[in-house]
Amino acid sequence: MATTSSLTYLPVLERIAEEVDRTPGRGRPADYIPALAACDPRRFGMAVAELDGTVYGVGDWRQPFSTQSITKVFTLALDLAREGDELWEHVSREPSGNPFNSLVQLEYENGIPRNPFINAGALVVTDRLQTRTGDAAGELLTFLRAESGNPELDFDREVAASEATHGDRNAALGHFMASYGNIDNPVPVLLDQYFRQCSVAASCADLALATTFLARHGIRADGTRLLTRSQAKQVNAVMLTCGTYDAAGDFAYRVGLPGKSGVGGGIIAVVPGRCTLCVWSPGLDERGNSVAGVAALDGFTTLTGLSVF
Ligand code: GLN
Repeated sequence: MATTSSLTYLPVLERIAEEVDRTPGRGRPADYIPALAACDPRRFGMAVAELDGTVYGVGDWRQPFSTQSITKVFTLALDLAREGDELWEHVSREPSGNPFNSLVQLEYENGIPRNPFINAGALVVTDRLQTRTGDAAGELLTFLRAESGNPELDFDREVAASEATHGDRNAALGHFMASYGNIDNPVPVLLDQYFRQCSVAASCADLALATTFLARHGIRADGTRLLTRSQAKQVNAVMLTCGTYDAAGDFAYRVGLPGKSGVGGGIIAVVPGRCTLCVWSPGLDERGNSVAGVAALDGFTTLTGLSVF
């Protein structure tokens, strides 16, 4: 792992880690599946990846954790790269103001989810990627391995099985959207892909590196282009407005960066043209975002002055 060049923000990360260590309230781990409920809320890691592939961090930055909804950014990018604007006929790009697993808006909006980062929208994106590739979760894993340079990155089969056992709400979302003709694949096939997608285990180092294509305006680690510059802007914009569910306004206010959280306690964030960040701490607030994670990103942009504003 490259740790030799500038390490520009390492002193900032060290200061943040000390601050987090002194903070008592850390929220509660997600408890809808046993594998997540068992996580220690005092774990904390944070990594920065620079555009040349240098990555460094503090705390548990090399510890794999359950990526969950963070993967929604990568499936969105992979599908957008393939089908372009047609995707937006099947999923909107407005903040939902509702919890990530909510069904309520779907009926009013004819089975078109509000955005690709709530569960309903992510199911649509995975369905479309499945149609285009025949293996959406496999496509995601291949991409994450390539961008992170970590061939060991993998699905967590226990988490995937557990998601399936407790998957009634995602199944309801899938079937409901299918009733409007907004899902192509059989719902059980889609759910299997989606649960495997959510189960990917990766570290802050892996995810910070895998996100750098968004800081490079669409260019992958090997120099090839995944997204047009305009599409990279679009993904970053949707992350800013929708990436932390019904707390996206507060996240933009406090952190001021495109970001995407997952109920495993991870959050990725992008400083376009500069670097990416990934933070992990499993204790969540009531909206499903990592308490220490948001505080750490808030600290980073406050201390460095880096934000999109
Ligand atoms: N696997 C979770 C779910 O579908 C992912 C949600 C999340 O990370 N917010 O409910």
